[in-house]
Amino acid sequence: MHVANDTIALIGNTPLVRLKGPSEAAGCDIFGKCEFANPGASVKDRAALSIVEDAEERGLIQPGGTIVEGTAGNTGIGLALVANAKGYKTIIVMPETQSREKMDTLRALGAELVLVPAAPYSNPGHFVHTSRRIAEETPNAIWANQFDNIANRRAHIVGTAEEIWTQMEGRIDGFTCAAGTGGTIAGVGLGLKEKDEKIRIALSDPHGAALYSYYATGELKAEGSSVAEGIGQGRITANLEGAPIDTQFRISDAEGMEWVRRLLAEEGLCLGLSSGINVAGAVRLGRELGPGARVATILCDTGFRYLSTLYNAEWLRAKGLAVPEWLDA
Ligand code: PMP
Repeated sequence: MHVANDTIALIGNTPLVRLKGPSEAAGCDIFGKCEFANPGASVKDRAALSIVEDAEERGLIQPGGTIVEGTAGNTGIGLALVANAKGYKTIIVMPETQSREKMDTLRALGAELVLVPAAPYSNPGHFVHTSRRIAEETPNAIWANQFDNIANRRAHIVGTAEEIWTQMEGRIDGFTCAAGTGGTIAGVGLGLKEKDEKIRIALSDPHGAALYSYYATGELKAEGSSVAEGIGQGRITANLEGAPIDTQFRISDAEGMEWVRRLLAEEGLCLGLSSGINVAGAVRLGRELGPGARVATILCDTGFRYLSTLYNAEWLRAKGLAVPEWLDA
């Protein structure tokens, strides 16, 4: 058995699992990349490590320095654990609408947590702008800037895409996932296209995001809303620039939640809603590609991060989402 030298060495090299229900529904093979197996339990550990190592290589951060970031939570958790392992501090700015579990995890990791009201990107109080201001005002601090720092997507070009290609032994026909920063879809897309440009890359966009319409018509236009955390983008971030998107799906929360419930009940996988939306997209892509196709997607984070929301009957009811009977006691 391989022994890792430190916590940072545990980031990446995650397992890939064949998903039985989604494969049956699509009539071909659907695989999920188990990003919940990262030490911070999400795909964002990869971006966090890549951003911090890039800042170190460029001499931007000194020992004892502070990393500041605006995040839906998972990037903050990744940054906090990388910072702890490397001797930095973290200040994390988060919209107060995110799950309680993410806030508690950040506090437990020793991050300084700044909660701000949810606001549109054009509002100076938006969590991203707030985090930049705090970074500018804090001595010996860097702003991680995950949305427009392409060290984020580089982690997925050299890591995630390479791993998927190796794990699938070069036999892969399609890949899909949703976008928050866009680092995962753009990085995995670019990495896989380098291996074989015929691999079809699909964006699975939630309601309330503007990218589905952008890739379909060229116009950034949002419709509806979503309770999914960590995804749903309204602009072309630097990470999304040049992303090789061949096709796009718009996935509702109800469709994503149906897979969240089925993967838990039928396969014992406890996931978040972005994973459910990704799996829904993978099923659609698999159906398009036809029998014999092999499609990969991302299982972004652990569902244990959403016990107070996605796995809570009262919360589901308040959001107008179906409540599984076993939660409805
Ligand atoms: N799912 C979850 C739960 C996330 O936290 C994020 C990151 N914001 C994503 C998906 C999207 O990843 P990316 O930022 O690479 O687009």
